[in-house]
Amino acid sequence: MTQTTASPQGSLDVLPLADRLRWLLAVRVGVVLALPLAAWGITRTPETLPVQALVVPGALLLATGLVLHRLSPRGRRWAVAAITVPVILDAAYLGWALYVTGGLSGPVVYVIVLHVMAVSLLGSFRSGVKLALWHSLVVMCVLEGVTTGHLPARGGVEGFDPLDYSVFLTVVWVAAVTTAGLGAVNERELRRRRYDEEVLRRLAAALHEADTGREVAEALLDFTVDAADASIAAVHCHVPEGPAGPAVDLVVRRRGDGGAEVLRGAGAPAPGSLLAEAARRRSTVLAAMRGPDPWVDGVLGGARRVVAVPFGLDGQGSGALTFECDARSGSRIERRRVTVAEQAVAHAATAFARVALLERLQRSALTDGLTGVANRRAFDAALERELTFAARTDAPVAVVIVDLDHFKQLNDTWGHQAGDDVLRGVGAALRSCMRQGDLVARYGGEEFAVVMPGATADDAVAVARRIRTELRGVAAPRPITASLGIAVQRGAASSGAELLAAADAALYESKAGGRDQARLAGAEGPVTGAADDAPLAAGVPPVPRPAGVPAVR
Ligand code: GH3
Ligand code: MG
Ligand code: MG
Repeated sequence: MTQTTASPQGSLDVLPLADRLRWLLAVRVGVVLALPLAAWGITRTPETLPVQALVVPGALLLATGLVLHRLSPRGRRWAVAAITVPVILDAAYLGWALYVTGGLSGPVVYVIVLHVMAVSLLGSFRSGVKLALWHSLVVMCVLEGVTTGHLPARGGVEGFDPLDYSVFLTVVWVAAVTTAGLGAVNERELRRRRYDEEVLRRLAAALHEADTGREVAEALLDFTVDAADASIAAVHCHVPEGPAGPAVDLVVRRRGDGGAEVLRGAGAPAPGSLLAEAARRRSTVLAAMRGPDPWVDGVLGGARRVVAVPFGLDGQGSGALTFECDARSGSRIERRRVTVAEQAVAHAATAFARVALLERLQRSALTDGLTGVANRRAFDAALERELTFAARTDAPVAVVIVDLDHFKQLNDTWGHQAGDDVLRGVGAALRSCMRQGDLVARYGGEEFAVVMPGATADDAVAVARRIRTELRGVAAPRPITASLGIAVQRGAASSGAELLAAADAALYESKAGGRDQARLAGAEGPVTGAADDAPLAAGVPPVPRPAGVPAVR
């Protein structure tokens, strides 16, 4: 799953360190070295020190900077040193240049302001403020040096004048704080965007790996909790009933501090609910929930400030991401969070459509197209799987083969279409007789087979009775009956083929014995048949249902 744990304030640099270093080098060459030399040219008087007074320390400064720049790839510490050490030395050099070129009334004051602004922009708010402090100290030392006579007063440089110095301080500090402040706002925004980009990239990677709807939903929920600061979020996917199978409603939920969970029975939202409204509008809905909404109340635990972002599944269905914005971060839902959630949903919708198609293909490869029950391939695989499992656990496995009686005659009399309708009805009737874990399949033409893991002979006979009862309720031009063959095995006694052969032989006996009955391999005579039906017709209670068998729908 995604590892979206970095924070917006984390290590995501707005400007990569290498770029900062390059820009700082440019600032040093341009601002710190070239401009003081120009200032020297402008302010030169006979008293001014020779140009070497600037060129020699300037060259040393440049050399130091270049050496540190070369060493910077050795690691983050070296890189930080390559930024900070030259900046400190530059400020000292500019103090010296200020002294050489006329003091506070000379042009180097502007170079100092420029220097502070450039470093504030390329570094950070803190480095800008620190540099302003450092410049203030250096210039004060220079002026004090002149006042105390440690530095000769030349070229119009006077000693420390509180007024001039206050003006200088004001200009430098206003420049530093303003630039750094504005830079910080920009930087925060850029950092956020980088963070969003980064988590979206991770989401895309997680979606690429996801093979099931649940995995896609989990990736989207992880993202929503991290990047959109959701306190609780849920994904709902709806694939309507189609030839490949019944309708699917997948609901996965994640609380901010918990893992994802699939909610069974949450189902589709009712018309008029928030999700239905978002689906109708086909656009994001931001809602302050005022009235009850069963879906939101049930799935999002009564969330109050809810964002619902709907999506389509390339014509295969639809879905929505819903989440509650964390109440701690104020009462307004930030636009950025919604935008980032919408981007994530766009990515996830493609992944959902892909896995839905895949699941549909897989399901249709194992489903009988006419009746919607499993096909023979799925049955054979399930039988082998259950027998292998049963061999390890010594549990029984039962197989029932159901062959409709005189079905050819039904086809011949009422047509193939009517026969198809009956087959569909029989498929549904058989499904209604199954327990969870049982599998019903269309084994061939008008022949069905059921595998029941864990079922004993008694269980299987009870199910056979029930099948006979249900078949009598199938809508058809004439009553539908079937002959059934049952075989049960315990442990690793026989293979799937042998078990099926035994059930088939029992079925043959049912046919031979007069049809409309069930026989159990190894037992004499029918285990259920027309004799059981007589009391039913007389209004006697129906055939008892074995434990665990669901009621008729
Ligand atoms: P019995 O009681 O001996 O089983 O007789 P029966 O007529 O059911 O058996 P038989 O094997 O002679 O005929 C099976 C019939 O099932 C033949 C065919 O017309 C019909 N059948 C097989 N597949 C389909 C199908 O997909 N649709 C329809 N409508 N009929 C089918
Ligand atoms: Mg038949
Ligand atoms: Mg047959």
